[in-house]
Amino acid sequence: MRIVRTIAETRRAVADLKEPSRTLGLVPTMGALHEGHLSLVRAARSRCDAVVVSLFVNPTQFGPNEDLSKYPRTFEADCALLEAEKVDLLFAPEAAEVYPPGAQTFVEVEDLSRRLDGASRPGHFRGVATVVAKLFHIVAPNLAFFGQKDAAQVAVLRRMVRDLNFDVELVVCPIVREPDGLALSSRNRYLSAEDRRHALVLSRALRRVEEQAAAGVVDAEPLLAAGHAVVAEEPAVRLDYFRVVDTDTLEDLPRIDQGALIAVAAWVGPARLIDNALLPPR
Ligand code: AMP
Repeated sequence: MRIVRTIAETRRAVADLKEPSRTLGLVPTMGALHEGHLSLVRAARSRCDAVVVSLFVNPTQFGPNEDLSKYPRTFEADCALLEAEKVDLLFAPEAAEVYPPGAQTFVEVEDLSRRLDGASRPGHFRGVATVVAKLFHIVAPNLAFFGQKDAAQVAVLRRMVRDLNFDVELVVCPIVREPDGLALSSRNRYLSAEDRRHALVLSRALRRVEEQAAAGVVDAEPLLAAGHAVVAEEPAVRLDYFRVVDTDTLEDLPRIDQGALIAVAAWVGPARLIDNALLPPR
């Protein structure tokens, strides 16, 4: 695996990897890699001739009071994991390479960026859309791999790709969980053993909603009530949102007949965690 730090080197390396008719896959990450990230890398490996991973803790997607400086950084271990997955190229730039002094151009997917996490993290999705647009320009992948774990991010990026005519196919991979249901996240490293036990309430609440939906409940209101009741079993968990929304527009849905996204976000100890479940159309 070749490790590159600059945009110019990345462009040159990609040109070599992208001989005619070879498919190039990109997996954007912020590092502190776990099996969730590796599932995306494996999906990319299975569908593409060459795989590029980016590792960049993107400052523009963190708010002023968020965990940018504390975000876990485990570069050596990340490299070993990616090497083992036979990644061809790792692009790991410094912030000044991505945002040179005076940078003032951003990508904003207007309405979508203010829904779900965008409501409680103003500017977050502007940062995400901007850095992913830049990565698409730098790497020019045929396919780009993202996790369903960040369902709102997927909706924002799908819209960006459509609106700005990016020639890239987004591939969305399922959420990877611990055996007890906890969705893998780099932020799980912030959790104490007790926090971790509390955090299980999120996947439990989603499961309860899925069970109710499978039993025939179609109105959002009782489904949300069931989910809220489960979260309330852990008073240490401070709910940000628990919603039933349309997968593409992220708008609240009154019913789930046409399919829906059940999305939850909560503070557990020092970490803000998110999780979700997709309900299929009836
Ligand atoms: P991050 O490093 O947190 O920005 O995540 C990089 C990519 O990995 C994003 O597309 C995430 O949605 C994806 N990802 C993170 N956690 C998981 C997980 N538990 N299962 C599947 N994909 C994940």
